[in-house]
Amino acid sequence: MDLRYTPEEVAFRDEMKTFFREKIPAEIRNKGAAGHHATKQDMITAQRIMNQHGLAVTNWPVEWGGKDWTPMQRYIYTEELMSNHVPAPLPFNVAMVGPVIAFFGTEEQKKHFLPRAANIDDWWCQGFSEPGAGSDLASLKTRAVRDGDHYVINGQKTWTTLAQYADWIFVLARTNPEARKRQEGISFILVDMKTPGITVRPIQLVDGGHEVNEVFFDDVRVPVGHLVGEENRGWDCAKFLLANERSGIARVGLSKANIRRLRDLARTVPSGDATVWDSESFRYKVNEVEIDLKALEITQLRVIANERKRGGLPDPASSILKIKGSEIQQRITELALELAGPFALPYHDMEDEIPDGANDLPDGFDWADTVAPSYFNNRKVTIYGGSNEIQRNIIAKMVLGF
Ligand SMILES: Cc1cc2nc3c(=O)[nH]c(=O)nc-3n(C[C@H](O)[C@H](O)[C@H](O)COP(=O)(O)OP(=O)(O)OC[C@H]3O[C@@H](n4cnc5c(N)ncnc54)[C@H](O)[C@@H]3O)c2cc1C
Repeated sequence: MDLRYTPEEVAFRDEMKTFFREKIPAEIRNKGAAGHHATKQDMITAQRIMNQHGLAVTNWPVEWGGKDWTPMQRYIYTEELMSNHVPAPLPFNVAMVGPVIAFFGTEEQKKHFLPRAANIDDWWCQGFSEPGAGSDLASLKTRAVRDGDHYVINGQKTWTTLAQYADWIFVLARTNPEARKRQEGISFILVDMKTPGITVRPIQLVDGGHEVNEVFFDDVRVPVGHLVGEENRGWDCAKFLLANERSGIARVGLSKANIRRLRDLARTVPSGDATVWDSESFRYKVNEVEIDLKALEITQLRVIANERKRGGLPDPASSILKIKGSEIQQRITELALELAGPFALPYHDMEDEIPDGANDLPDGFDWADTVAPSYFNNRKVTIYGGSNEIQRNIIAKMVLGF
């Protein structure tokens, strides 16, 4: 199997690289490169520029602004986006609700919601998980009861990422508690976040950020026209959405860029008369993770080649990409923490309590500020998008045939 890029693919890669570097403001990309989260406005700005150039919703059907690209072109687009630290198009809009509406929605829903989602005129969030329903999503308890031409929704969602910014939420709710199988009584419903009865409560994270929330529904009335697909067939939408969520989760481009940064920083951190990069043991650890990343990249290219042979059907081996990709992302944050050492602690907030001269941040070490938050934040990557244990179950069943 020849895994090298063809000349056309090399030209496509250069085109994408040039686009991201020339059109997305350097100020936004530099923030990502320095380990900071993109702000809401950065994400909107970047996605609107991509949308103007037809590059925000490349995974959608062509008639709704998507691209008729090969799997390899899709891979290259994602790699260039990530390795240039461009904020990815909002996944809730672009990878999740957009494709579901395009596939299962009515013409009216498509015309209204899709252009707005592509341009983030509406910011969407995902209302799937509940306190008792995560990996076992089908056990969800949020109820939607038909009352004339409305559903009345009661229940609670949790871990709802960026719900504090959201204009709309797509919700899985139980519409038939008597169904023979749990999966058969669930519907996929679009809910305006301004509807009376919705409360968003932040969950404070250990990295100090506010990224996830609890969302409560108390007698929330939603027009029946906001049901997507058939009533009680929402599980079909959910499965379709979750398969899309996992694609691109290996984040090879991002890890490549983060390893480059780690190496550059190690060359600036003093260690005795030399730098940390001169230490064989640190170099060994970085090289080890880089070799794993190379193996992951090649595996990803093989999975893409297999999917091409399978006529575009997802390859269950993509679960391997999720596991290895997330472990590598975490490993890089661990090495960054080792590199920053005590300077990763938030001493700058405690200046008054530190004796003169002790543990001052040396000049040029301002990057160390983001290291500990990023380490803590990245604990999530082995959980969301289907935890790594669940991915191992998929591999056992679908790849190894147990
Ligand atoms: C940062 C973050 C953002 C998120 N954003 C969203 C969002 O926007 N919207 C949304 O709906 N959800 C979101 N989630 C929720 C996410 O999908 C769930 O956390 C995930 O599905 C796991 O569910 P759980 O947390 O209930 O854990 P559980 O399902 O209770 O699992 C607990 C542990 O048991 C293991 N486990 C469970 N079942 C099995 C099994 N059968 N075999 C082996 N091990 C098993 C799991 O791997 C895990 O280690 C987010 C989560 C995080 C951490």
